[in-house]
Amino acid sequence: MKYAKNILETIGNTPLVQINKLTADLPCLVLAKYETFNPGNSTKDRMALTMIEDAEADGRLKPGGTIIEGTSGNTGMGLALAAIVKGYKCIFVLSDKQSKEKMDILRAVGAEVVVCPTDVEPTDPRSYYSVSKRLATEVPNSWYVNQYDNPSNAKAHYQSTGPEIWEQTDGKVTHFVVGVGTGGTISGVGKYLKEQNPNIKVWGIDTYGSVFKKYHETGIFDEKEIYPYVTEGIGEDILPENVDFSIIDGFTKVTDKDAAVYTQLLAKQEGMFLGNSAGAAIKGLLQLKEHFTKDDVVVVLFHDHGSRYVGKMFNDDWMKKMGYID
Ligand code: PMP
Repeated sequence: MKYAKNILETIGNTPLVQINKLTADLPCLVLAKYETFNPGNSTKDRMALTMIEDAEADGRLKPGGTIIEGTSGNTGMGLALAAIVKGYKCIFVLSDKQSKEKMDILRAVGAEVVVCPTDVEPTDPRSYYSVSKRLATEVPNSWYVNQYDNPSNAKAHYQSTGPEIWEQTDGKVTHFVVGVGTGGTISGVGKYLKEQNPNIKVWGIDTYGSVFKKYHETGIFDEKEIYPYVTEGIGEDILPENVDFSIIDGFTKVTDKDAAVYTQLLAKQEGMFLGNSAGAAIKGLLQLKEHFTKDDVVVVLFHDHGSRYVGKMFNDDWMKKMGYID
C-alpha cells in the first residue's frame, strides 16, 4: 500500500504547469510552480514545517507549547496543520486588511486569531509585529516563530522548492520569478538555483507601497515608498532578514488593480484558481517581457489558492467598488 502516514508527509512535490494563453505574446516557455497542491493550499506549508522541526530540534519549541506568529494567513495554515499533528496550540496575529476567509480558515483548524490595525507603524504597540512579540512574552511555554527573520524559512525553500524546480525542468530553468513578502521563497529557491547555474536570473515581484524595489536599486530604505496597498502577501514596510538582496537580479512593481485583474484572468483563461499574489506574479512576469528570449524557460511560483479571495478579487461587486473593473 502507498499512503502518507499523516497530512504533513504530503507537503511538497507540487506540479509544474505550463501557462498558455496569458503568456502567448512571450517568446519563451512559462511554467508555474503550482504550490496550491500543498495540503494547506499554499507554499507556506513547507517553511512552516521546517521552522517547527528546527525549533523542536534546538529546544525553542517544547512539548505542549503554544506557537505564536504574525501571519497573513498562509503561514498560519501551515503552522496549524503541523501543530495539530504534533500536539501544539496556535495563536495567530493578523492585520485587519487580510481577507475574512483567511481568518475563518485559521479558526477552522483550531487556531486563536487576534486582529490588529494595518495602518499603524510597525513599532506602534498596536501593530501586528508588536502584538505578536508581546504575546510571546506573556503566554507561558510559547514560541514566537518570526517568519521574517527565521532562517528556517528560506532554508525550507533551499532544501525542497529549489531542488524540485531544478529537477522538474531538467536543469533548463533560466529565470525564476516570484512575489516577495518575507523573502523566504525567493531567497531559498534563488540561492539553490544559482548554485546549480549562476546564469539563472531571479526576479522579485513587489507592490506599490513597499520598500523592496527602491532598496534593491539604491540601498536606501525610503519611508516615502511606504503607504497602504491592497495586494495581499507581498511587499513590506520592513527589511526582513530572509530577503537576500544579493541573489535577486531585479524587482518589478505591480499595481493593486493589475494584480486583481490578472488574478481573475488566471482563473478565466488558464483554469488556475489562485490568490492575489499569483495575479501580481504573472503580471510582473509580463512586464519583464524584454528580458526573455526564445530558448528561455521561465518558472513563476504561485503561492496560494483562490478560495481565500472569493470575497475580493473573485467578487465583481468588490472589483467595481475598488474601481478595478467597469
Ligand atoms: N504570496 C502570498 C499569498 C503569501 O502569503 C506570501 C507570504 N507572505 C508571499 C506571496 C510571499 O512569500 P515569501 O514570504 O516567501 O516572500
